[in-house]
Amino acid sequence: MAPRRQRRHHRQHPKCPAPAAAPQVTPAPPASGPSIHTLGFLSLERNVPGLSQVILQKLNLKSYEEYKAVVNGGIPGPGFGISSLSDMFQRLEDTFQFCARCRVLPDQLPVSEVLRRCKRCRNVYYCGRECQRADWPLHRKVCWELGLVAVDRLLEWLVVTGDFSLPSGPWPWPPGAVRDWDTWFSMWGSHLDTMLDSALGSHAMSTLWDSVGRPRPDPESLRGSLRRLLTDTLSQPLTLGLGLRALVGNNGKPGGTTVHVVGASHVETFLSSRGAYEEFAHMVPGHIGLHVTLVGVDLAEEAPPQDASPSPSSPGKIQLSSYRGLYHDFWEEKIETGRAVWPDLVVGFHPGFHADQDLMAGWLPTLLLLRDYAIPTMFTVYSQQELTASLHILGQLEARVVAYGENPFASLKPEQAYSNPNKPPVYCSAYYILFRGSCHQSDEEDAAGRTENGI
Ligand SMILES: [Zn+2]
Ligand SMILES: [Zn+2]
Repeated sequence: MAPRRQRRHHRQHPKCPAPAAAPQVTPAPPASGPSIHTLGFLSLERNVPGLSQVILQKLNLKSYEEYKAVVNGGIPGPGFGISSLSDMFQRLEDTFQFCARCRVLPDQLPVSEVLRRCKRCRNVYYCGRECQRADWPLHRKVCWELGLVAVDRLLEWLVVTGDFSLPSGPWPWPPGAVRDWDTWFSMWGSHLDTMLDSALGSHAMSTLWDSVGRPRPDPESLRGSLRRLLTDTLSQPLTLGLGLRALVGNNGKPGGTTVHVVGASHVETFLSSRGAYEEFAHMVPGHIGLHVTLVGVDLAEEAPPQDASPSPSSPGKIQLSSYRGLYHDFWEEKIETGRAVWPDLVVGFHPGFHADQDLMAGWLPTLLLLRDYAIPTMFTVYSQQELTASLHILGQLEARVVAYGENPFASLKPEQAYSNPNKPPVYCSAYYILFRGSCHQSDEEDAAGRTENGI
């Protein structure tokens, strides 16, 4: 239930009691640029005909606009009424009910029949033995991982409500020593164990398992899930830190360091509202002020203030601001007029420009701008396949790719393909790409650039 990006048909949803909903209405064309939401919605309906209608009905939402308002943290119309936590979790579960093999929905079955859930993963449903057997060769490869997904999506509720929070405060280790999740978890050591124990023993945790209609997993499984959720929440800020380390360094320049997060949506908004970006500040100690501006058409209501004007920076602090729109518009309106600071680093999480012609058309002016102004840029993608496709596009644009590879701070929380549950799960920001300028840059310019090393 923590925010997921929605370009992919399998992203799940934020603060909305059901995941990846897809109203069966024609989405209004986005105001500007291609909409990640719209593409995800249409594909969901293609994969499981009728499911979007079930989801809409379960959530008492009447339109795509209303749905989007909820996703973006707005107030839905009257009649949204979720009566209790059990009710909410039941509705959430209902949205997963379709046969993973033949895609039949509960109300399309004869009266005497019901869908039954796989007993191992408690995640996918089947209309009967025949479908389950026929599907097993495919499902057995992902059953275990989908079992983790089923626990994670329940525990995410504790992140949404704030009952499970992030470790806070400056890092006890020198940041250079923290290179991946193993070292990050070692750094927090017993402090984190205490936090996890306290979450496991909390009233909120008991209430959750009393409400979800399935047995409470053993403590080790729950600890594992909470750790995955931590990595999911902190993946973005720590990836920003890696990008800064690799492409910029801690240059301590007067006025501080400015990072623009492009293509930002409700995911980034949610993270910023939960204080996740503070972890980025802890990764860059001794900085003279960090400014992070979220730029995107799909920013949620609770986004940081729009004012991106340069303000006095304060050491150790992170300043967040936002701009609702496309990055090249932001550039024209704010950077070229001197109303916002030139970025030291630009980062885009799952931009998705490889996925679709329309998305590419929306991204092209931004990609060209980043290339031509030689802005140190980092993108992340979900899979090796997306990495290859994205590198191919950057190659065609003659962008100078400095490094790419597996992200040591990828989210460790598996993401299920919502409408195609037996597709192997993917992980947010699993791979990164660093690029800077064009491949026609002179050697001199190259020498002036930062490290060529990967992360
Ligand atoms: Zn079936
Ligand atoms: Zn299973």
